[in-house]
Amino acid sequence: MSKIKVMNENLANKIAAGEVVEKCASIVKELVENSIDAKALNIIINLEKGGLSKIQVIDDGEGMDDEDAKLAFFRHATSKIMRDDDLFFINTMGFRGEALPSIASVSEVELKTSDGKSSSFIHIKGGKVLETKSGDLRKGTSITVTNLFYNTPARLKYLKSENTEAYNIVNLIEKLALARPDINFTLTNNDKMIIKTSGSNNLLKTIHEIYGLNVSNKMLEFKANNDDFDIYGYICKPEILKSNKNDISTFVNDRIVRNIEINKAINDAYYTYKPEGKYPIVVLKINTDPTLVDVNIHPTKQDIKLSKINELYDLIYKTIKDTLYNNLLIPNAIKDESVNIIKDSVIAEIVDKMAKSNNTQTEMNFKIEVKDQKQELKTNDEVVINKELKSLVLYPVGLALGTYIIAQNDEGIYLIDQHAAQERINYEKYMKALKNRVITTTNLLIPITIELSASEYITLKDNLDILKNMGFVIEEFGVNTFKITGHPTWILEGYEEESVRKIIDLIIGGINKFDQVKFNEKMAITLACKMSIKANMHISLEAQEELLKELVMCDNPYNCPHGRPTIIKFSIYDLERMFKRVMN
Ligand code: ZN
Ligand code: ZN
Repeated sequence: MSKIKVMNENLANKIAAGEVVEKCASIVKELVENSIDAKALNIIINLEKGGLSKIQVIDDGEGMDDEDAKLAFFRHATSKIMRDDDLFFINTMGFRGEALPSIASVSEVELKTSDGKSSSFIHIKGGKVLETKSGDLRKGTSITVTNLFYNTPARLKYLKSENTEAYNIVNLIEKLALARPDINFTLTNNDKMIIKTSGSNNLLKTIHEIYGLNVSNKMLEFKANNDDFDIYGYICKPEILKSNKNDISTFVNDRIVRNIEINKAINDAYYTYKPEGKYPIVVLKINTDPTLVDVNIHPTKQDIKLSKINELYDLIYKTIKDTLYNNLLIPNAIKDESVNIIKDSVIAEIVDKMAKSNNTQTEMNFKIEVKDQKQELKTNDEVVINKELKSLVLYPVGLALGTYIIAQNDEGIYLIDQHAAQERINYEKYMKALKNRVITTTNLLIPITIELSASEYITLKDNLDILKNMGFVIEEFGVNTFKITGHPTWILEGYEEESVRKIIDLIIGGINKFDQVKFNEKMAITLACKMSIKANMHISLEAQEELLKELVMCDNPYNCPHGRPTIIKFSIYDLERMFKRVMN
């Protein structure tokens, strides 16, 4: 019985129309997703000129019988959807059945397929069948697309350069490989190997195969669930951030997805662990009941809508935040070699290395094992990690360049940016004080008077409650002037007037869209920066010691509230390697 049914026309129209074929990557996506649906475990993608000259996808999937092979080129033939209702239970990747006919109508296609019992070869150009015959019985499907858009020159124009098309395809295959670590993906361009994953079904190993050891060594595993969602994956330590969001890979039921809320949850969880405009490497897998997912809102199927998105946001946010909190994140000052060369060449290099020797492989396996054990330990007893951090003792040696505290312990030498470190300490102090509902006020011996412009005066007068609720004792005092006679205790002694003025500036500046949470956040960061020791201020060894003690007690001692690092480490091993005391 043939697996492909011709879908009724009405249903076909319901499915989002739009351009299936717009760039080489969208053709590759359709073909590879078909291979995945056919349960292939080995998928080879061969490109010539980034797909502009040739796209070939070879798989070892179920293949098609004669009848399916012929039907594959009819519009709206699909083996995956038969009735309207099925649209809501889509759990396979491709589902429109439009891809092959669309591709064949604007190019030249050769299809070889066999289900192991029969086999077919079909040659089509511009939608017209040129040749059909039987082929060999190797189980699987091979599709070769050439002469793309030869009959639609207007669309040919919209194809990008070889490099751009290739880049988009590399990106796509990387994500598909991360979606399916159990599948062996091979991607070549002009006979040059670009991606090779082993199909090991080990996500960390797949991350290694795609990004290299320098990244996979800095990934942290997470796993969590609630009533509706299971989440699993890896996030990077804040020391290897990227300048764009390309490497945030999110999947729902193994499908590549884009969703603003999911991205926001990730970004919010990294709050103050990274500067704005920098993005982590993340592989996030979400599994859920397909009825909660509406995949059909966009023809490319990447943008999705999810029911219970708030519950999912909370789950992702909390899990990533906890993962960052539960790990020691002090970056090594000495970077591993070969970081951040152009991605393609890194990939090529890795593939090259792996092909030449099995050493990398063994080393990697070993590292994964060690890591897994460690991770298990962590999830079993989270308190252990907190203790690990909180018991970290840093002994100050002195101050360098008036800015960096040099410290040491039996693991190595540390450099701590004294301003950033104190900014972090003060920030957390303020945030805790602002969350505290019991407000205690200190009376001022000498009241502070604040003179404002007429319009500022009116704005502040309308919003005096903000200051009063915070614990300020404030009253009108003559023309455009206020008098402050008391302030919340968390305002640092000696910085009273400066703090009050900063807070009033924030109120006047941001009153149109006042949001208490954001206001507190902004105020804590501004005051923390203002009240912290500046560079070139020499503090005593005792003061350094005190500062370091307070720093390790912070929730996030690794970054200032702007996301910049507070501390870096030279491990004993790094030092010995640099001084050639050890020779590897
Ligand atoms: Zn600052
Ligand atoms: Zn800062």
